[in-house]
Amino acid sequence: TFAGPVAFLKSAPALHFLPDPTVPEVAFAGRSNVGKSSLLNALAGRNGLARTSNTPGRTQELNFFDIGDPVKFRLVDMPGYGFAKAPKDVVKKWRYLVNDFLRGRDVLKRALVLIDARHGIKEVDRDILDMLDGAAVSYRLVLTKADKISAAELAEVTERTIAEARKHVAAHPDLIVTSSEKNEGIAELRAAVLEAVSV
Ligand code: GDP
Repeated sequence: TFAGPVAFLKSAPALHFLPDPTVPEVAFAGRSNVGKSSLLNALAGRNGLARTSNTPGRTQELNFFDIGDPVKFRLVDMPGYGFAKAPKDVVKKWRYLVNDFLRGRDVLKRALVLIDARHGIKEVDRDILDMLDGAAVSYRLVLTKADKISAAELAEVTERTIAEARKHVAAHPDLIVTSSEKNEGIAELRAAVLEAVSV
């Protein structure tokens, strides 16, 4: 786990609720059901820290977690995207909140974009990748639920995802492959977070 405690700080449904930008931040993004809550809980070494909310109306918040006491850095759980039945105004609100946050947050050092290993990068993911490129926020792609596919399928999706990452200016050329279920790739992900906040 991270050295020091992990504690939920606050939810920000709009930009004026953001915490003061006093420490570096690393944000986690991904489509709903990608396994983001499970991964955050695995990272923190704690269950129930990040909650999944599978209702479209309840997902439009940035959730902040303090790491360390005194706090050294923050993890930001970005609202999930890609709900099949999300109303247009909900999608629009998500875009404004996320785009404004990415563009205006000086303390945001990096984003980790979670991609379901079973599906690879989908059209809904390209939207956030383009927003990150446009905001000049460097990011790294993280495959989730790697335990759900075979080694051959994993090799194929890894290669395909790396090829796509190379087309995005702000993307790190390497992936992190994870499984919260099997606790795989968690140490590597934690190291990537620590590296991002120490620069
Ligand atoms: P979120 O909506 O992105 O926060 O996703 P969750 O973390 O709630 O996970 C969505 C579903 O995928 C849940 O049923 C999890 O149990 C499952 N899940 C998450 N991570 C893994 C994983 O690494 N392996 C497997 N097999 N299932 C996972």
